[in-house]
Amino acid sequence: MKKEKFDLVVIGGGPAGYVSAIKASQLGLKTACIDSQLSIDNKPALGGTCLNVGCIPSKSLLDSSHHYEFISKHAGSHGIDGKCTIDISRMQKRKNNVVSQLTNGIEGLFKKNKVSWFKGKGKLISNTSVTVIGHEGKEQTISGAYILISVGSLPISLPTVPVDNKYIFDSSGAIHFTQVPNKLCVIGSGVIGLELGSVWRRLGSEVTMLEALPNFLSLADDDIASETKKIMSKQGLKIQLNSIVKSCEVANNQVSVTSIQNGKEVVSKFDKVIVAVGRRPNTDNICLNNIKLNLDEKGFIKVDSHFRALGDNVYAAGDCIGGAMLAHKASEEGIKIVEQIVSGVDSNINHANIPWIIYTWPEIAWVGKTEKECLANGEKIKSGKFPFLASGRSHAMGETEGFVKVITDSETDMIRGVHIIGANASELISEAVVAMEFGSSAEDLGRIIHGHPTLSESVHEAALAAYQKPIHF
Ligand code: NAD
Repeated sequence: MKKEKFDLVVIGGGPAGYVSAIKASQLGLKTACIDSQLSIDNKPALGGTCLNVGCIPSKSLLDSSHHYEFISKHAGSHGIDGKCTIDISRMQKRKNNVVSQLTNGIEGLFKKNKVSWFKGKGKLISNTSVTVIGHEGKEQTISGAYILISVGSLPISLPTVPVDNKYIFDSSGAIHFTQVPNKLCVIGSGVIGLELGSVWRRLGSEVTMLEALPNFLSLADDDIASETKKIMSKQGLKIQLNSIVKSCEVANNQVSVTSIQNGKEVVSKFDKVIVAVGRRPNTDNICLNNIKLNLDEKGFIKVDSHFRALGDNVYAAGDCIGGAMLAHKASEEGIKIVEQIVSGVDSNINHANIPWIIYTWPEIAWVGKTEKECLANGEKIKSGKFPFLASGRSHAMGETEGFVKVITDSETDMIRGVHIIGANASELISEAVVAMEFGSSAEDLGRIIHGHPTLSESVHEAALAAYQKPIHF
């Protein structure tokens, strides 16, 4: 059979792959995108982990559970009373609808932009050919002058903690609970652990988080990490540090979790367990043995500064090449690759200014360096903090927890990092990203007129605090 020929074949339809495929078509390349993801009702679906089992469904549940917690615990202070009950099946149905609207939306964008969608697993068989193994096992080979590998990542599993998605769940399974577990154990207090732990705690679970490391949220600035721990613990999450989970066993509808806590073996029983101990690259069996993709010891694809993985025409982007495992990072890498292919322009992508967001409540977001990173780098720094407790809008909203912290170079006043814990931090951080990307000083940010009353005034005030003094604190 004659191979169908494309200018670009993209393997993987997640945030790196589908965005690149659309961009490539917009720029005139005949583009194919191969994807093996199935939806909850077993239909091929675009959008990868992010749309199908990651960012979008978890945010849908985070929003629903946040509304429940607000109505049941906090609405009374606004003078709003009423009975509040949960219907998990409706909550899940809503989440599934949100997902399918968005995945169908990408299918529509593919049609609009004339991207050919191949449903199945793509396997690189030469540097210009990819075999698609369809869901029913049928194979077909297509060719591309250029290939982009964007196969994403998978949850890491612990050999002695067998995920069955009945009692012991990975992050993909834990978004489909049909009942609120009474006692839930979350292994790992990273980003996924905090988000999914928050969902089920708000809905009524007693949640224990077992974290191997002695430090909590070590990626974040220390001030943010300790404030997060304080707030999350007050909300009811039991966060146990120095707790390395060794094994889990299911018996009599319960899971016995054995962990070493501060050097001592502890066995505790839970109704359900979520394993959230990180993600690994999805690079097993993505090419024939004779294709020598360069993988590092963890399985991430090694790329050069142009994201080339093999020769001049095979590129890789997103989670499978390592770095921050974030959808927005993956998409920008894909766009850069496509622009390079089409016009030879090596467009700028600044990995130093990628925003991080954790969708707990209050939300956590940051960009740039933490104080510890600056100091380890020998930088002389200052910092300014502004608490939401001193913001008029925060009081009006009833959301006074948290603060904004702006870190600057003490000589030049250039912003080195902005760290926020507070309501809507996920949106507030964008201003800081733009400021840092345009090389702003704290004074620049402090002299920009911010709307009143808004939460963004707290970013403004933290910038004032970094180079002079805040007005309202
Ligand atoms: P993570 O690396 O953030 O956290 C995993 C935690 O598990 C670590 O703190 C680790 O010390 C702990 N751990 C490992 N083995 C353990 C054991 N045996 N016992 C107890 N604790 C153990 O990983 P994650 O939360 O699984 O998230 C995976 C990736 O997905 C992250 O890199 C993140 O970037 C991405 N993600 C991002 C978002 C977001 O941007 N909001 C949301 C979800 C996931």
